[in-house]
Amino acid sequence: MGYLVLWDTIDPGNSGGSVPTPDSPWTGHVIVPEKFACLHCQAQFATKDELFEHRFNEHPYRRPVLFYQGRELNNPREDIYHVIAADDFDFKQADWLELEGERVSEAVLRHFLTQQRQKIVKIRLVNEGLSSEYELKIHVADLAELAQVDELFFTLLDQVNLSVLAVDQFVKACRKFNTVLAYVDGLSHYIYAILAKDQTGGTQLRRDQAKGRMSRALEVLKRFDTPLARAICGVINFNLNCFSAGSTLEHAPKLQQAMQWFHHLQTQVPNLAKPTGIGVIDQGLKLPLDRFTDSILNWVLMPLERQAEQLDLIVQSKRDSAHFDEDKLKLSMLLSQIYLFMHDYAPAKHQARGSMNDPAFGAWAQAVLDQCETMNEKQT
Ligand SMILES: [Zn+2]
Repeated sequence: MGYLVLWDTIDPGNSGGSVPTPDSPWTGHVIVPEKFACLHCQAQFATKDELFEHRFNEHPYRRPVLFYQGRELNNPREDIYHVIAADDFDFKQADWLELEGERVSEAVLRHFLTQQRQKIVKIRLVNEGLSSEYELKIHVADLAELAQVDELFFTLLDQVNLSVLAVDQFVKACRKFNTVLAYVDGLSHYIYAILAKDQTGGTQLRRDQAKGRMSRALEVLKRFDTPLARAICGVINFNLNCFSAGSTLEHAPKLQQAMQWFHHLQTQVPNLAKPTGIGVIDQGLKLPLDRFTDSILNWVLMPLERQAEQLDLIVQSKRDSAHFDEDKLKLSMLLSQIYLFMHDYAPAKHQARGSMNDPAFGAWAQAVLDQCETMNEKQT
């Protein structure tokens, strides 16, 4: 079991000094997605307006539709954990709106929603002959309670004594906070997940149940914009090989850089992605990690020369049958880069070949094969 240092100073490695991370207190608002995705065809857009244009031109269904923060609601029930902002909702294809059965203006409805903290609200969007009803379950987390939960998390769930028992204690200690039940639940599922993945700490779960727990944690925690929630969502996405540019991970610099490294490999030619070997000064808050994620992060962030020295260890680790397929793929990506660096093309190709038909990683695999060809020709 390892850990990830959060909210601390970053040592950029070669410059000799340390750079304090910017002190940016979080606002307690929902993380707005980096991309706006179409619910009907998964196309992605940079702005809400582009999404709307696509949605209503390409999928001209006439029913009224409610969007929450640029996300089309396909479920009549929606949980909302934060204070609603006046422009959070978009009411599309609706001639009029109803609040608890009463017809109201859009301005009145928007204002009403911004005032609610703990309430179930029924709204209805109506056009000629069609209507859509939604039940919004608003339970706004109190910022002071969130901060206290974070503190308990870091005190009670440190990686040395991490166990099912420790999670029980954490949940008990958080019981006095009324507005953050979902948040506590999400944090607990994350810890259960890594205990299951490592098969340690008295877990009753099987190793393969770890992913289910991670998904449950992600589903809840992605709604919370605390550094802890962001970091855990980042770790879970990393586990599931959902790499991104890591722009919401400024409080977890190691994870951010590893995310960027894999994202770059996945989307562009492989030799452009080079880890720079940053070090993180080890004094900050520590987020527990499963041991595979911990090793992968450490290896990825080493300079190539040091990675090459660790080659046998990495190969050995990949043979460990306890690895999830996602982690094996990360190790394949890492190994192919090391072999390319060593001009050892046959094993580099071997690492990539298994992903040739993978819709998400086929481009990476092809790029490795192409690069091997090019470099081979140069040599002969
Ligand atoms: Zn679409």
